Amino acid sequence: MEKLILSEDEIVRVCERLGNEIDAKLDESNNGVPVFVGVMNGALPFFYELVKHIHHKIQLDTIKVSSYDGTGSTGKVTVQKHPDHNLEGRDVILVEDIIDTGITMHYMKEYIKENYKPKNLYTCILIKRNNLNLKYDELADFTGLETDEQRYIVGFGFDYYGILRNEPYVYVPSMKDIQELNELLEEDKKLHSDMTKEH
Ligand code: 5GP
Repeated sequence: MEKLILSEDEIVRVCERLGNEIDAKLDESNNGVPVFVGVMNGALPFFYELVKHIHHKIQLDTIKVSSYDGTGSTGKVTVQKHPDHNLEGRDVILVEDIIDTGITMHYMKEYIKENYKPKNLYTCILIKRNNLNLKYDELADFTGLETDEQRYIVGFGFDYYGILRNEPYVYVPSMKDIQELNELLEEDKKLHSDMTKEH
């Protein structure tokens, strides 16, 4: 590991604070049973830790999107998995892992407002990167940690080619970590292509 960004203890403390902030907002809004929507796959570890610290009666849901920057076009979000609940007229808390360039959050908010018509849409993120190449100056309603760290981060939902999401803390991997991961991925690719050959 090159640098620890959030330890396991820090993650719990951050989620406790965010839980209190969101509970207070939901008291204020007083609009029935809110729906918390976690963005798959990256936000799920954060999503499930966060909701433990919410004291309201809530429902849980998920959404999966891919986003494209609107270079030369209007830009769009493609939804690969829709929420299962009816969100119309309800308080929705969208839980995402990070705002980096701001593209995903920008289009996701537009998409949800337009297609699901919630009464209130709040956003909650674990990390806000003060990105030097920011595309959309998106701010979340609730933010766990703001960082100037520009390097790629992994762990606790953040992946490296689909792996490391299950690690319990967030960190910047070292060159050695990356080398070992690349070797593991190569080995895995070989194993699977070998298996394909056998069948
Ligand atoms: P944005 O659209 O704001 O640039 O980025 C959103 C998505 O990019 C996040 O949901 C996350 O999946 C991915 N992402 C951005 N920065 C990082 C990072 O440092 N590490 C990992 N693993 N994913 C990142």
